[in-house]
Amino acid sequence: MTSPTTVTGPAAAAGHHERIARLRAAATRIRRHALDMGEVQGQGYIGQALGVADVLAVFYARGDGELRLRPDDPHWDGRDRFLLSIGHYAIALYAALAEAGTIPVTELATYGSDDSRLPMSGMASYTPGMEISGGSLGHGLGVACGMGLGLRHRGNPARVVNLLSDGELDEGSTWEAAMACAHHGLDNVIAVVDVNGLQADGPTAGVLRTEPVTEKWRAFGWNAERVDGNDVAALVDALDRIRDHTGGPSVLICDTRVGRGVGFLETREKAHFMPVAAHEWQAAREQLEGPAR
Ligand SMILES: [Mg+2]
Repeated sequence: MTSPTTVTGPAAAAGHHERIARLRAAATRIRRHALDMGEVQGQGYIGQALGVADVLAVFYARGDGELRLRPDDPHWDGRDRFLLSIGHYAIALYAALAEAGTIPVTELATYGSDDSRLPMSGMASYTPGMEISGGSLGHGLGVACGMGLGLRHRGNPARVVNLLSDGELDEGSTWEAAMACAHHGLDNVIAVVDVNGLQADGPTAGVLRTEPVTEKWRAFGWNAERVDGNDVAALVDALDRIRDHTGGPSVLICDTRVGRGVGFLETREKAHFMPVAAHEWQAAREQLEGPAR
């Protein structure tokens, strides 16, 4: 990653504050894009999209995000690779790619339709900026490991980020890949775990206990940071620390809230595929634009 010109003192503090404010605004736009797409199809993994929007904003916000990208050249070899192994989060990543400028905002209205570049599950062959086809869980980190090795071999300074879910920690292949990344000292690989406490079959704690998550990653040789994944400033600070870490891979463990930003969805009985009635999409948008809670 390139480092910005070093500025210290009050000017730096003010610049940081303004950047955080812009990232929060980007997160709200990502949530709104996701709600718009959900309304198109009357469905979607909207609870997860709202929950992970702050994380995606910190990576993708145009001009402020962590990823080095060229929105008009999604195959640029110097780009940071962002691997969405949780293909059902595609609605969230499309919203982020629109925020980044990789896909036009107007195209979001085609979500899930025939001939759209935005299928309901993420597929690399369809969508600019979608690096892998996800959905069969547990493969993203292995691909990230291979990409990280390849980039290092070629002297390419790009980084590889794999966004995975807490449910995906049930997959043995995730832990094989975690061992391999640490063994090879891949400090160009970052795992980002969306810990929303929920997976397809119910609460994560009841399906297959994953805690203590942080200690597990550390035991596998990873530099681990755990933050409130709906706190933009905390995410930025953690990624700053991760950028300074060398010699091995880092994981950013993000505790997020399903439905975040829309009160009546935050408190809805949690379901992997959250039902939203036709009249609720507009109500959800209005809550997003309301006073910060
Ligand atoms: Mg989950």
